[in-house]
Amino acid sequence: MIDFHTHPVLVEEMVIRYPELEKAAREVFFIGNRLQPLETFLLELDISGLQRAVLLPLETTRTRGLPIYSNEQIAELVAMAPERFVGFASVDPLAPDAPDRLERAVADLGLRGLKLSPPSQEFYPGDRAVYPLYERAQALGIPVIIHAGMSWEPRARLVWGHPLHLEPVLADFPHLRIVATHFAWPWSLEVAALALRYPNLYVDTAALYFDNPDDFITDLLVRRVPLTLIEHSLRHQVVFGSNYPRVEIKNMARAVRRVGLSEKTLTMVFEENALRLLGDSER
Ligand SMILES: [Zn+2]
Repeated sequence: MIDFHTHPVLVEEMVIRYPELEKAAREVFFIGNRLQPLETFLLELDISGLQRAVLLPLETTRTRGLPIYSNEQIAELVAMAPERFVGFASVDPLAPDAPDRLERAVADLGLRGLKLSPPSQEFYPGDRAVYPLYERAQALGIPVIIHAGMSWEPRARLVWGHPLHLEPVLADFPHLRIVATHFAWPWSLEVAALALRYPNLYVDTAALYFDNPDDFITDLLVRRVPLTLIEHSLRHQVVFGSNYPRVEIKNMARAVRRVGLSEKTLTMVFEENALRLLGDSER
């Protein structure tokens, strides 16, 4: 079982090696929590019954002056616990060499997906300038995880996170597997409609914008998006993500397990859909 949405911004061992990571965590990622040893991250996974976590970097040099983890740093962290971590890459989607950088991150560093964030990287996902990058990701057979929904970052405008901006990409790259994060809250019904229309779209559960994971996930997956819609039509397209360390993995995992989905669907959400996204299984 896999947590498809984590940010290793507070891992103490990495901050000791690369002190600038703390500046990125505080000033770009806007997280105030204390640093944690790697062991805490792995224990969070253990007590949540999860074997692996996807580690997400973000290349924000153009817009924020520094990245939130480089691809090389992600690869270094994966090497500390290779059986537990799946590393993703991030590149500036508007840089002319973005496709080549992505290919090197996959070929040389062993990274297995691409992370983009329109609100933090200040671009529209449907911008034709980004198409060569999608083409390369599709050719490499890797998934693309794209921030959708509200962002807490003060400079991140909401409009960049609206999931309908993903539609041209979904339509023009039917073989590219795309994950919209945070169930695109507050546009969760809109992203559900997109997922119904485009089977190459997945959504993750890494959403917590008020209250606590139990109450928020119940509101999201029972009231905003009918649970039956997920159970009957979208069960192949939802993946578990916690958004650790903004949210404790165990609390998000408990909330999703308790929300009322069938055991079969929970197996898809926590395991099968993530494996298919990563290309670890074929169906
Ligand atoms: Zn996140």
